[in-house]
Amino acid sequence: MTTQRKQLIYVAGYGRSGSTLLDTVLSNHPAIFGGGELTWLFQQILEHQTCSCGTDLQACPVWTRVVEQLHQRLPHFNLTAAADLTLSQEQWFSWRTQVADYVRLWDATWDAMADVTGCTTIVDSSKNSRLSRFRLELMLASQTCDVAVIHLIRDPRAVMYSTARGSNRKLEAGDHHVSWLTPYKGLMSWAYSNSCVDHLQAKYPQLRLLRIRYEDFVQQFENSLNQLSNFLQLDFSQTAVNVRNEADFDAGHGVAGNRMRRNPKIKLRYDDEWSQRLPWYYRRSSALVRPWMNRYGYK
Ligand SMILES: [Zn+2]
Repeated sequence: MTTQRKQLIYVAGYGRSGSTLLDTVLSNHPAIFGGGELTWLFQQILEHQTCSCGTDLQACPVWTRVVEQLHQRLPHFNLTAAADLTLSQEQWFSWRTQVADYVRLWDATWDAMADVTGCTTIVDSSKNSRLSRFRLELMLASQTCDVAVIHLIRDPRAVMYSTARGSNRKLEAGDHHVSWLTPYKGLMSWAYSNSCVDHLQAKYPQLRLLRIRYEDFVQQFENSLNQLSNFLQLDFSQTAVNVRNEADFDAGHGVAGNRMRRNPKIKLRYDDEWSQRLPWYYRRSSALVRPWMNRYGYK
């Protein structure tokens, strides 16, 4: 069993910010296992959701073995209790009386994932939401892992435009209806999620954190890979070559995430459709988050 200290890379920020692209890039490094949005791991296994490899999570060779190991490592392990414990400790309205149990559960999970995949670096792209508000902070309590945070940010107007097109899960189910309020909610959630990261950075000044803007990541890709290489002390030069050659990328075994996860090729296309097509009433409302936009360098 693995006793070596592991590195957890937490992709923080709000959804719709290109995290699947970042996740694919990171998890195709041979030393890294990309777990996707791991906050939903136990819940999604229970619900027979699909792994990014295309298999039911209850039949996926990686997650089946991780669950087997959890049964060996934790005498009373069961999926429902693990899902409930995770949600109860991570959400906003919680007394957080079971932090020790939470840390034990997740340390065992990181160990199992490292053992099964042979990777000592694991990516968790859970980001920040009302339901996972405290996940990153709880991860900092890990006894077996060191945490590095990649704070991924995108222009909030692009985020609004993306939310106006509907959620991935609904689109996959053929539901194209989107309320006119959704982009406004997206805007507020964007400010909230990014504030959570800023707050943690202020609270834990030693926190290892790299901030990447989606726009820079796509437009200055090789430069961004150099930044990642320096930050994580891992060499991403082969990834740059693979993207340039339009090589196939492994879909991996990520949990949740969006449809692009199953696309084996990475095409670096800077998506700025919002600048032409976002309606004025949404565009104007971005003034509400102007302090955040200034902070992250959006004009
Ligand atoms: Zn899988």
